[in-house]
Amino acid sequence: MKKFMKDLLATTMVFAMATSLVGCGGSTEPAADDAAATGETLIMATNAEFPPYEFYEGSDVVGIDAEIGAAIAEKLGMDFKIEDMAFDSIIPAVTSGKASFGMAGMTVTEDRLQSVDFSDSYATGVQVVIVKEGSDITSVDDLFAEGASHVVGVQTGTTGDIYATDDIEGDGFGTVERFPKGADAVLALTQGKIDCVVIDNEPAKEFVAANEGLVILDTEYAVEDYAICLAKGSELTEKINAALAELIADGTVQEIIDKYISAE
Ligand code: GLN
Repeated sequence: MKKFMKDLLATTMVFAMATSLVGCGGSTEPAADDAAATGETLIMATNAEFPPYEFYEGSDVVGIDAEIGAAIAEKLGMDFKIEDMAFDSIIPAVTSGKASFGMAGMTVTEDRLQSVDFSDSYATGVQVVIVKEGSDITSVDDLFAEGASHVVGVQTGTTGDIYATDDIEGDGFGTVERFPKGADAVLALTQGKIDCVVIDNEPAKEFVAANEGLVILDTEYAVEDYAICLAKGSELTEKINAALAELIADGTVQEIIDKYISAE
């Protein structure tokens, strides 16, 4: 079993444990102070460089997360505001209380669970590999093959960065180049500066559609759960989970996803 698979398994187990802890340990009383702490405005920290989950349409941040976030705020009777920031600033914004929660196609990982809590998962993400057509990398396994030496592009602080740093750079199969945005990594790939990009599948599809000569490998690097991150111990977690469950049950979440991701 590859190391990242084991890590992922551990993550899933920790996540399951954390979820069940929230399930049995939490209070059922409504938490009045959470709303007060954010002045009745739910502030969502995101990185609007991740289509179709969050991206700019004119000066507005739109996308799956933006709409689910807004629907949650509506359910909770709170105003809603989105703060756009670097991906690796989202967790600090949440832990410092500058944002009520972070929602950015964010994967639940064991590491992140050390500093934040996560809501129940609302979507699945897959880490995929983008290459130039005709690349010598034809499957994910080529990245870990004997003698492999590739320059792998990622977005700083994402799980793609974490896996590639660990599995590829850490194990001597090449180097990792970190970019502030996924789109910057893809641009470097089109310019032949790097050999591939490890990134989530939905933005990958959009970037490949927008650039000639790129393909996504058929094999998956890792399968992950997306969830909302919150300050540790926040009573908002329970309220968000309740709102999310209703929005999943009544089909709203699926409707939002279908609006942005066409069925294949
Ligand atoms: N799912 C990846 C992560 O959580 C990437 C998220 C993103 O770039 N917005 O690290």
